[in-house]
Amino acid sequence: MTEVLTGTVPRTEQGQRVKAVALLSGGLDSTLAIHVVKAQGIDVVALNFVTVFCRCTRGGSCKSEARKVSEALGIPIKVLNITDSFLKIVKRPKHGYGRNMNPCIDCRINMFRMAGEYMREIGASFVITGEVLGQRPMSQRKEAMRIIEREAGLEGLILRPLCARQMEPTIPERLGLVDRQKLLDFKGRSRKGQMQLADIFEVKDYPCPAGGCLLTDPGFAYRIKELFTHEPDTTLNDVQLLKVGRHLRLNGSAKLVVGRGEEENMRIENLAQEGDVLFLMADVPGPLCLLRGNLTEEVLHQAAQLTARFSKVRSLPSVKVILRKGGEERVLEVTPADPVWAEGLTIVKKDKRKNRKIVVEEGGTGHKCD
Ligand code: SF4
Repeated sequence: MTEVLTGTVPRTEQGQRVKAVALLSGGLDSTLAIHVVKAQGIDVVALNFVTVFCRCTRGGSCKSEARKVSEALGIPIKVLNITDSFLKIVKRPKHGYGRNMNPCIDCRINMFRMAGEYMREIGASFVITGEVLGQRPMSQRKEAMRIIEREAGLEGLILRPLCARQMEPTIPERLGLVDRQKLLDFKGRSRKGQMQLADIFEVKDYPCPAGGCLLTDPGFAYRIKELFTHEPDTTLNDVQLLKVGRHLRLNGSAKLVVGRGEEENMRIENLAQEGDVLFLMADVPGPLCLLRGNLTEEVLHQAAQLTARFSKVRSLPSVKVILRKGGEERVLEVTPADPVWAEGLTIVKKDKRKNRKIVVEEGGTGHKCD
């Protein structure tokens, strides 16, 4: 495998150094793909896409992870937040969803289309990605890769250095801009080849080992599907709220979000918008709850009961709950909600066979796009 390190610097027909745009997620595969191409003397410019669904567990965002990798590689990087265009895709993907709410084919088309635009803008010759044939069930099959290339307007211009020798030669290979013999032939889900390559390029701190795309998380996917059913005009703020707290559906147009600790209470408060009502216990500690939707007196009363249900005084017959809307406050005296009723309103996927709830995984799904 060490032949990836040898070779002469290729030139374009005009005698210039060859330039490529790389999709860099911050994961190991995209990092290695860049190493392989750089080792051939090709200049690489990284492009990193960020969305509201991106989750990195290293205490920062994927954006900063990709930046760290680009710095280590000594290449420039452009970071694009594509949440707006992506949210439209997540709502109605032309090519459907994967196992959960991940519209991977449409998502990749969108990313490659933008990468193609950037490639033309900076005079690069092709786009590279760390994809490996057969590694992901939806977007990394040959047929799906063909569709993605065609619909992104990049037929023959996407080079996958880690599995190139499993694929038809691309235009840059045919033009001699890239040496095909120094590309790899990885296939499938095994990571053995990547580990060997990481040793060769001395990539020691594998970036972003977990985290990944929230849309592949069964717990989160259940929540967002439920939201789309009731809120066809789902906004970015609605999605950000989905990432916090316990969610309860009171009726078709009203939902309560319950904070599960001080940090979540603060995040919920920061996400409150005009028209939302915040609930908090009057005399004792308890959760901060946010009610959004069509708010009748009955719904406000129910939300106050539910707020009390998740406080420390849930066993008292009557408690006071503060309702805050805009600059105004009032107090309701209510009986804490019945636990079975509260449980029935909770938006959570249930595995009936194992009799357990499937919650949003704290550590992430590990599915990181390359
Ligand atoms: S898993 Fe990756 S390709 Fe699939 S939708 Fe999420 S970001 Fe896009």
